[in-house]
Amino acid sequence: MLEKFTSVIGQKRSALKELTLAIWSHPEIAWQEKFAAAAAKEFLEKSGFSVTVGCFGVETAFTCQYANGDGPVFAIASEYDALPEIGHGCGHNLICIAGISAFLALASALKESNTPGKVVLLGTPAEEGAGGKVRMLANGCLEGIDAVIMAHPSAKNYTDGGSTANKGLEVTFHGRAAHAAGCPEKGINALDAANLLFNAVGAYRQQMPPAALIHGFINNGGAAANIIPDLVKCRFYLRTFDEKIMPELERRFTNMVRGAELMTDCTAEIAPFREAYRSRRPNTPMNELFAETMEKMDMPVIRVTSPGKGSSDFGDFSQTIPGIHPSFAISPAPTPDLVSHSTVFRDACATDYAIDSALKAGAAMAQVGWNFITDENFRNEVKEDFARRN
Ligand SMILES: [Zn+2]
Ligand SMILES: [Zn+2]
Repeated sequence: MLEKFTSVIGQKRSALKELTLAIWSHPEIAWQEKFAAAAAKEFLEKSGFSVTVGCFGVETAFTCQYANGDGPVFAIASEYDALPEIGHGCGHNLICIAGISAFLALASALKESNTPGKVVLLGTPAEEGAGGKVRMLANGCLEGIDAVIMAHPSAKNYTDGGSTANKGLEVTFHGRAAHAAGCPEKGINALDAANLLFNAVGAYRQQMPPAALIHGFINNGGAAANIIPDLVKCRFYLRTFDEKIMPELERRFTNMVRGAELMTDCTAEIAPFREAYRSRRPNTPMNELFAETMEKMDMPVIRVTSPGKGSSDFGDFSQTIPGIHPSFAISPAPTPDLVSHSTVFRDACATDYAIDSALKAGAAMAQVGWNFITDENFRNEVKEDFARRN
């Protein structure tokens, strides 16, 4: 079936290239992806599908499906949001066409072979620091769906080894302003409290569980050198590969904030500043089939056996139903500076090599979907692997 997938996708290559470059040159940050959602809708409608933009509680999300009677339901996720300032430095313009090409190939295969089953394309915006999938999931986007897949650009081709759960917390310290030279004794220094918190986090790092990470920055550090800061805000990410550790991590972090309050006479509040992401639960049979299929297209894939330290809102999807988030290479010879969230990465995401690589990932995702829908043994293996990793 791979030949069929590559042929369906190949016929649309120039239109898919035009779509991804249009999104790349018109970057939109989280929740604002109106141009990208409209462009994807227009493309899919020209291909004969009807598309709903604005669904599952997200204005810039879209959904599109093809069903051929009753059968297993397989979903493909497609992102298209950009980063502030550097545009498509995470390459979500490529994720968009990888997902669309997988959907076109799988829908065409189901139709022509008259195979019972359904394929759903979910346009999932606002991944970068926002959690579009978390919100869509809460509004039922995976109801009735049996498995899901999405592929992300990277320096090399990788299977999905998992990722960290991620909680974003903002700490606000309140003190009392005073002239920093004239009457400092009348002030309560909120920046001192923040500094003590950073020191406490730094000291904790040595004893922290190896599966955990904490990092942060001061996003409001005061107003002037001659004012004792009365309001300071800092933001932290608490991350862990092992979700069971998160409550302990949060308990320790809260105690550090309380300690900083006591030491400085400040008061503090802790509040989430974005949706929490769950860790990604990989799936070996899906990973292996994706990798084998990529390799048939001369794309060697590195089998990843431990989770990456980053996080994605695909984690929530993969904890709800079986799903993988493998990666495809955007350069034939990656240089050390080809790292995501950089301008080098952004520029590589508009090359012909990267576009062809995204389309190969699309064909490989279609293959995973096809086997899931048509092969009961594969489907059971996928479900068993999902249950075993609980
Ligand atoms: Zn990113
Ligand atoms: Zn990304």
